[in-house]
Amino acid sequence: MNVSPVWHPFTQHALEPAMKRIVRTEGAYLIDEDGSHILDAISSWWVITHGHRHPEIMAAIERAAESYDQVIFAEYTHAPAEDLARGLIEIAPAGLKHVFYSDSGSTAVEVALKMALGYFHNIGAPRHRICVIEHAYHGDTIGTMSAGERGVFNAAYEPLLFAVDRLPFPEAGREQETFDAFESFCTAGRVAALLVEPLVLGAGGMKIYPPFVLAELKRIADRHGSLLIADEVMTGWGRTGSLFACEQAGITPDILCTSKGLTGGALPLAATLCIAPIFDAHLSSDRRRTFFHSSSYTANPIACAAAAANLAVWKSEPVGRRIEALAANQRRRLQRFSTDARFSNVRQAGTITALDLSVPAGGYLSDVGPRLRAFFRERRLLIRPLGNVIYLMPPYCVTDVDLDRAYDAIDEAASALAKGRL
Ligand SMILES: *Cc1c(COP(=O)(O)O)cnc(C)c1O
Repeated sequence: MNVSPVWHPFTQHALEPAMKRIVRTEGAYLIDEDGSHILDAISSWWVITHGHRHPEIMAAIERAAESYDQVIFAEYTHAPAEDLARGLIEIAPAGLKHVFYSDSGSTAVEVALKMALGYFHNIGAPRHRICVIEHAYHGDTIGTMSAGERGVFNAAYEPLLFAVDRLPFPEAGREQETFDAFESFCTAGRVAALLVEPLVLGAGGMKIYPPFVLAELKRIADRHGSLLIADEVMTGWGRTGSLFACEQAGITPDILCTSKGLTGGALPLAATLCIAPIFDAHLSSDRRRTFFHSSSYTANPIACAAAAANLAVWKSEPVGRRIEALAANQRRRLQRFSTDARFSNVRQAGTITALDLSVPAGGYLSDVGPRLRAFFRERRLLIRPLGNVIYLMPPYCVTDVDLDRAYDAIDEAASALAKGRL
């Protein structure tokens, strides 16, 4: 047998079946070596927004590749990065003034944490505690794992992870407990920042909370001079119904992280936006106050051009209306599960829907995810449940027919499970 040297992410190679090769992508589909069109119902791990290979974005990549490859981003700058930064400031929540580039969601959050601690260090009032919400996910680097929920995913690395202060998830009707916990951490002092995924905790199980919670957390942070870092890596670019989820709470975070949908999903790029005082605290004739962070591929011009083209798509096409229509289409289809005893916690935030499949107790839980994946794969659907949480986060070009197919498959999967045939 010809064993591949490739080590895939989040993959137990001892248990996974041989992988099909994808040879092309188009719209809402991945097309495999047999010519099968697979519905990408999770937007290829949440990155694809409009659809795969949006023509304007692909054309911008081709144009940029005629002039650029990678260009060092210290000592020199370039138009794609300059134009994109201006474009981002224009559409981001008002008050964000500076844009720092990196290349993934994890690094965007690492940059945010370093900005926050650097700010307090440089103003001569050091703070180093980070508050997060229970079930949070912020990436897979050591720093972002430290901020994320602890469990089987990071048990091996636990000795290297730094301590953070965790707020209970704001369950409906018990939001005050979250506020009280945050207030008491702040009162105890030295809270540099609250790091949050606005409105939807993604990898932690698509847990949704309302905008007023985010607004109140921002008020508490302000009262104590702590910063609010919005990790919009997943929630940005329309997923929750608005361009950024923070808009629904009417807040401007002190730092905002964006990545996944920034280029429409075409190329890896990230940006960490911040308010002026954070940049200004690093502005000094004293070189020790420099923001000491970079990665080799920072602000890759071709990726920046792709992102600028994505911004142009948001302006030239009715993306907002498309998102609204998708949210309504999702809502209609989700309805049939709201009183279905096989599911609980049926929920939606904009274009994202999620529901918990009731599974028999015990160790079975650990097995249900892979079995569901196989069930959906056989039906040419890319749906990857988080444990027993089934969710859909399709690209905005998904058709009604394909949505029907996805929801019918979820229904069938639950029936198969009930009959012991999953
Ligand atoms: C995916 C994700 C990240 C990490 O992004 P990568 O590009 O995978 O490093 C960080 N935060 C949130 C909320 C995410 O969903």
